[in-house]
Amino acid sequence: MPTIHEELDRRQLLYSLLMPVMNLYVPGLDKGKGLYFLFVKAETKTPGGLLARPVLTSYYNSDHFKTRPYDPFNVYTSPNEAILCVDSFQSMYAQMLCGLIMRNEVLRVGAVFASGLLRAIHFLQNNWKQLAHDIATGTLNPKITDAPVRECMRKILKPNPELAQFVTMECYEENWECIIKRIWPRTKYLDVIVTGAMAQYIPTLEYYSGGLPMACTMYASSECYFGLNLNPMCKPSEVTYTIMPNMAYFEFLPHGSSTSCLVDLADVEVGKEYELILTTYAGLCRYRVGDILRVTGFHNAAPQFRFIRRKNVLLSIESDKTDEAELQNAIENASLLLKEFNTSVVEYTSYADTKQIPGHYVIYWELLVKDSANAPTDDVLNRCCLQMEESLNSVYRQSRVADNSIGPLEIRVVENGTFEELMDYAISRGASINQYKVPRCVSFTPIMELLNSRVVSKHFSPDLPHWTPERRR
Ligand code: AMP
Repeated sequence: MPTIHEELDRRQLLYSLLMPVMNLYVPGLDKGKGLYFLFVKAETKTPGGLLARPVLTSYYNSDHFKTRPYDPFNVYTSPNEAILCVDSFQSMYAQMLCGLIMRNEVLRVGAVFASGLLRAIHFLQNNWKQLAHDIATGTLNPKITDAPVRECMRKILKPNPELAQFVTMECYEENWECIIKRIWPRTKYLDVIVTGAMAQYIPTLEYYSGGLPMACTMYASSECYFGLNLNPMCKPSEVTYTIMPNMAYFEFLPHGSSTSCLVDLADVEVGKEYELILTTYAGLCRYRVGDILRVTGFHNAAPQFRFIRRKNVLLSIESDKTDEAELQNAIENASLLLKEFNTSVVEYTSYADTKQIPGHYVIYWELLVKDSANAPTDDVLNRCCLQMEESLNSVYRQSRVADNSIGPLEIRVVENGTFEELMDYAISRGASINQYKVPRCVSFTPIMELLNSRVVSKHFSPDLPHWTPERRR
């Protein structure tokens, strides 16, 4: 996405409105700190030599963020050095350690997306022993080698056996219900986006937080920041975002209608769904973001939108977005490995499994094995998983390789006839036989139960796919 320097000012303006809005609903946020898990990713160069990096990496590396003036409403437990460390393990470790050390000051806990906060909790599950050891002794884990992080942690970390004992007591138990409230007892709300694809994480977050409110404060993208939620303490299902007209020129393509006439921001109608179209200061012209929004009302004259879904995205665990064409392509590439076994993929569907952290893609395959004496081996099917991963986009592979935020892809082979049963089920619920299409992604419980009850074997990617910062596709 093209961007220009002045865009940062515009984005900063949106950020600067978040706390004044929050203060209308939650008092006393200047009496403590925010525990936010924020990360940067590696920078790359485009073939033409331009710097390329994710939008948040640009923002955290900017002076707007790094040299921000002191603001009692925006004090974070994480030092800049920890946020700006590109090694995701070291960054997370230092941020978690600071969060534990300052546990009694924390008033809100957050990450950009819900998936990021769950990753942090999972990290604590895996690393609490070492963290408690560091707190007890006042020495930093030798795996933290980044010099600026070590230097800043030297000032923060002091031996505190009492705190180490507390962390051990809380984390030692099997039961992690309410862990956020137990460790950070003054937390008033979670600051995470749980709308759109992130809604899948709400039940898990409720479990870990003991039902703390979840605030979805803003709606933004790499292309442009769009707007904010003027009622951030509302329920996730009621979140609406008010688009700020100064961020870009916004137009709306009526969704599901044959007209291709664009509607201006001021002219959208309540109850209708639109696809968001942008013309940005950085040079995108009538660009289709791919988001479908529904108008729910107005704030003064500014329309408010509910995020309905992203067009064409089948699978998403965190910032990855895999569409139908990509999944199809990945299946085709993987099924080439089955050729020598005279086997083909007759049908497939997929599921984003986020029950465990990190979440992973599950692909259900119905196979046609023409020669059962020469059926594909376990090893080949494992390699099919890896081949699919190699075919997916670079954001997926980066999440797998650099961030470990997506787990190994899984193929579940189902019995022959399973997809026909799936169709029978859909027809029994009113689908048309003529127009029936195999859903390429599933999540409806009865369908999941049907598929899972027919699984004959499970296979996982045995290795990491290729990804390097230089190799962008
Ligand atoms: P990216 O450019 O990778 O950061 O992704 C931007 C996309 O993430 C948007 O176009 C939306 O599809 C989604 N997104 C961002 N903010 C929200 C939000 N508050 N609620 C739902 N989806 C969001």
